[in-house]
Amino acid sequence: MEKLTGGCQCGAVRYEANGPPVFAAHCQCVDCKRSSGAGHVTAAGFPESAVTFVGTTKSYVSRADSGANVSRAFCPECGGRLALRSETIPGMVLLMAGSLDDAAQITPEAAIFDTRHVAWDYFDPALPRVPGMPPRG
Ligand SMILES: [Zn+2]
Ligand SMILES: [Zn+2]
Repeated sequence: MEKLTGGCQCGAVRYEANGPPVFAAHCQCVDCKRSSGAGHVTAAGFPESAVTFVGTTKSYVSRADSGANVSRAFCPECGGRLALRSETIPGMVLLMAGSLDDAAQITPEAAIFDTRHVAWDYFDPALPRVPGMPPRG
């Protein structure tokens, strides 16, 4: 089974995940923009049981447009974003792809919340674009 490892910028928090991820996508929603300061966040979803964290994270919980609570975990020391959990996808943890030791281990399958796309944020034209959340199931 493919092992993925990663952590925050300062190294206080590390994680290990049993791959492959269930899905991976670029998210362009307003909260991902604000929390990252970038045009989008790239994340890979794993069952909670497949991911082990070492070190303590802090979480910021906000309410998404869908009404669901979304929790974004980060390192309290360096602020590096590590994980996201949403009520809409119970039992799943999304790891921030940029926090992986080898970000090339994942392959984004879509760009979601495409209604929030900004022109300077470039994606492969072949990549499927989803206006909001991807359809369930
Ligand atoms: Zn850190
Ligand atoms: Zn988002």
